[in-house]
Amino acid sequence: MKRLSIVVVALLVVGVLLSACGGSAGAAKIKVATDATFPPFETVDEATKQVVGFDVDLIKAIGAKAGFEVEIINSGFDSMLAGVGSCQYEAGIAGITITDERKQQMLFSDPYFAAGQLVIVRKDNSDIVGRESLSGKTVGSQIGTTGAIEVGKIAGAKLKTYDEFNQAFQDLMNGQIDAVIADNVLSLGYIGKSPDKLKAVGDVFTGEDYGIAVCNKNAELQTRINKALADIKADGTLDKLVQKWIVAAQ
Ligand code: GLN
Repeated sequence: MKRLSIVVVALLVVGVLLSACGGSAGAAKIKVATDATFPPFETVDEATKQVVGFDVDLIKAIGAKAGFEVEIINSGFDSMLAGVGSCQYEAGIAGITITDERKQQMLFSDPYFAAGQLVIVRKDNSDIVGRESLSGKTVGSQIGTTGAIEVGKIAGAKLKTYDEFNQAFQDLMNGQIDAVIADNVLSLGYIGKSPDKLKAVGDVFTGEDYGIAVCNKNAELQTRINKALADIKADGTLDKLVQKWIVAAQ
């Protein structure tokens, strides 16, 4: 009887130890906010209702290398930036352009994608030939984005902001506004879906780098992300994601 209880206790102790080990071996989970209205970087898959895209694959690959699990939180673009700024979220990924203004509120990883702004008009428009013809025009963009900031820099252009780029492109196609200014890859996706209704005019007119935003109290996380990102660039994973989400989609 005594011997049996010793065995039971021993088994219990082993069990507790094993589960404790399992717990500590399990990677920490970090909250990463996004705005899943920016295909092909992040969008909600209609069938599965999951957030999918280039950025989702990238942050998961970074987490796998750096030893953390990722919990994706889908918030609006503006609230994502505010939430990373206040450290409500540990990080944010949403094709976020690294800018000096944003660097006052948050840390950024090294760049992972080069992008820029484009002017998009209706296919039948002939008077807007680029950024230089937007004075007196109503130009739509998503609130808080570098596209909206660029509209604000064009003398005489009227900015109309939207919660999502999708609404701006809808309004453009319906004739409510004259043009949209948005990131090049996103814009080419919309043009690709409605080539009889939309076209780009002029060249990409800004040079921007996307980076992962990090809570400014967590320089250690920024360092871990940068190390993993460097590995992912070196081992070809980043190139594969570009092929999968961007080249294949065009
Ligand atoms: N790259 C742009 C920015 O950072 C737009 C990003 C987005 O709309 N998700 O403002």
